Amino acid sequence: MSNDAPVRVVTFGCRMNAYESELMRAHAEEAGLADAIIVNTCAVTAEAERQTRQTIRKLHRENPQAKIIVTGCAAQLAPAAYAEMEGVARVLGNREKLTAAAYAEDGGEAIRVTDVMTARETSAHLLEGFEGRSRAFVQVQQGCDHRCTFCIIPFARGPNRSQPPERIVREIRAVLEGGTPEIVLTGVDVTAYGADAPGLPPLGGLVRRLLDEIPEMTRLRLTSLDPVEIDDALFRLLVTEPRLMPHVHLSVQAGDDMILKRMKRRHNRADVLSLARALRAERPDIALGADIIAGFPTETDEMFRNGLALIDEAEITHLHVFPFSPRPGTPAARMPQVKGDAVKERARALREAGARRMAALLSTWVGRTATMVVENHGQGRTDHYLPVRIDENALTRAPAVGTVAAVEISGHDGATLHGTPA
Ligand code: SF4
Repeated sequence: MSNDAPVRVVTFGCRMNAYESELMRAHAEEAGLADAIIVNTCAVTAEAERQTRQTIRKLHRENPQAKIIVTGCAAQLAPAAYAEMEGVARVLGNREKLTAAAYAEDGGEAIRVTDVMTARETSAHLLEGFEGRSRAFVQVQQGCDHRCTFCIIPFARGPNRSQPPERIVREIRAVLEGGTPEIVLTGVDVTAYGADAPGLPPLGGLVRRLLDEIPEMTRLRLTSLDPVEIDDALFRLLVTEPRLMPHVHLSVQAGDDMILKRMKRRHNRADVLSLARALRAERPDIALGADIIAGFPTETDEMFRNGLALIDEAEITHLHVFPFSPRPGTPAARMPQVKGDAVKERARALREAGARRMAALLSTWVGRTATMVVENHGQGRTDHYLPVRIDENALTRAPAVGTVAAVEISGHDGATLHGTPA
């Protein structure tokens, strides 16, 4: 790796990590860090950690001179384990990784990880935009005060902390000036926005303020929402505001009340159904997505069938299925586990149900004109967050990456729409 090689950042996990990786890249470049690779890790599943370790070994093999800096949730939870790995020069916690000092070549401690549960600050850095991206993730909140029994995130990310609204406004304006057409508000538990700071509005109030103060923001999305923590103002905006894209992703996790209880979730099955119906009653074309865990401990066949049926009853099209992965230190890891084959089979059945619903939604778009944000050459996502690609024979007329364009839909392949520029 040559001295002036740009800082390489390898990112695992969520949109929040993607957002923070951009901040870390800016800090590291500011600190003049050279010959280094930053690995921003995820600890949400055992599989995510396995991939992280495999990648660190590969990076060291391919770049034996490079200093590997490991950050993120896995580093926060098990710093010593990563510091022992070959090629790893430094391990940074989730707080430290967002400070410029952490990247200085100062010969200091290899492990720089403090107790994140005492964190009260939010990141201070102003993001200048994403490199060549069609949408930018803007962090509005950090950490989580809930204790879902399967989740390790609060112990890696600390308590709920909201970004001041004026900073979010500045950040979004800077990103839009940079030419990125779409904004995604992100966080660990965004519906908890404002709960930690008296005087701050809940998420609905924040979104209202952003829409009022940034008229040039024409395309806004929200990351996963807790079904029972959507405040009234937010609900009104979701069903009436055209600048809020007609796609809502819900952190559902299961479709059986006993399992939801054992997960320590705040909602039950009926809450999800009544929310889905209320959203559609006022915005009939709204597309719904959900995160669902397959094979949570103690889940019987009947409990699983209740979850599977929810996909159709709530008409969920954008389904993210997570086979249960016991995280050491969580209550769920100590519960009686469902057999591995059953977990796999249930995940397969859930994905199949989601794919069937998605294909049905895609069919309703054939013969219509959709608006897409172009992510890569000839590919992108529509307002309803449906994948779309420009037909081969029309690629020469494909709209530019990072632009918003109309596309006449002529068909789909079950997973992706296709068509020609309108
Ligand atoms: S709400 Fe639950 S699942 Fe989400 S980060 Fe918090 S503890 Fe984890």
